[in-house]
Amino acid sequence: MKPPSFIPKDIMPIQRGQPIVNAMTVDVEDYFQVQALESYYDRSTWDSCDIRVQENTERILDLFAKHDTKATFFTLGWVAERFPALMRKITDQGHELASHGMVHQRADRQSPDEFRNDIKRSKDLLEDTGGTAVKGFRAATFSIGDTNLWTYDILGEEGYTYSSSINPVHHDHYGMPHAPRFPFYPTGQKSLEEIPITTLDVFGHNIPCGGGGYFRLLPYMYFRYAVKSVNGKDGWPFMFYFHPWEIDPDQPRPEGVGFKSRLRHYTNLARMEQRLDRLLREFEWGRVDETFLPQHDSIT
Ligand SMILES: [Zn+2]
Repeated sequence: MKPPSFIPKDIMPIQRGQPIVNAMTVDVEDYFQVQALESYYDRSTWDSCDIRVQENTERILDLFAKHDTKATFFTLGWVAERFPALMRKITDQGHELASHGMVHQRADRQSPDEFRNDIKRSKDLLEDTGGTAVKGFRAATFSIGDTNLWTYDILGEEGYTYSSSINPVHHDHYGMPHAPRFPFYPTGQKSLEEIPITTLDVFGHNIPCGGGGYFRLLPYMYFRYAVKSVNGKDGWPFMFYFHPWEIDPDQPRPEGVGFKSRLRHYTNLARMEQRLDRLLREFEWGRVDETFLPQHDSIT
């Protein structure tokens, strides 16, 4: 398939001598909502699961407070409905609240009407509970790609100003390997930009380094190198992501999970918080809107 010709955003000017502020993001969902485990937890059973997302998100808030880090929380409407006080706590502590859809449904399995209702309803819910405007969206399992680029038109129409829904790598659940590595305007309008998950360019191939399972599976020093390389050689802020269930080694584990899903979901959960602690200490992190949007817009 011929890659669409997206309009890249101009490179962001870097202040001389100032460390680059990178974007720290959390996809607020529970362990029973991830795609790798979807066959074990039917949506009708979610409310009877041991719900751990609130407690784990509170621990993340404490970790961010310790480092005086602000971040963006891409949150499911399902979570906002059940834990409105947590939404208010996130925004009261100076973080950005953004949408991760209602119930972690892949955007490439939705019709345009379903997608529109989903992003509208989650935005309204998050704005009502968090008390601030929601500008950003991240599709469940990075499920925007060649087959559903129409999603961007709807995001723009529904008042979103950015999306961070593409991870430009090869992966069996997602990926748009030929998408640009850095922010671009998917509809051609500068009112909406896509800010992809960060990858490393190695001899023309995009190598995953943006967080999640990779951050638990690969050596920490690889990520340290990746942040330095993207900030230095590429001159862009880094876009990092992880999930509340990744700092929870005590989460329930259903029986019979296959090897690949087990490796992805459970490896190094116990070491995650310590690794994050180091990442937060060694680099500067901030909210997506403050990291990627205003500096550019204010430069003439
Ligand atoms: Zn997710």
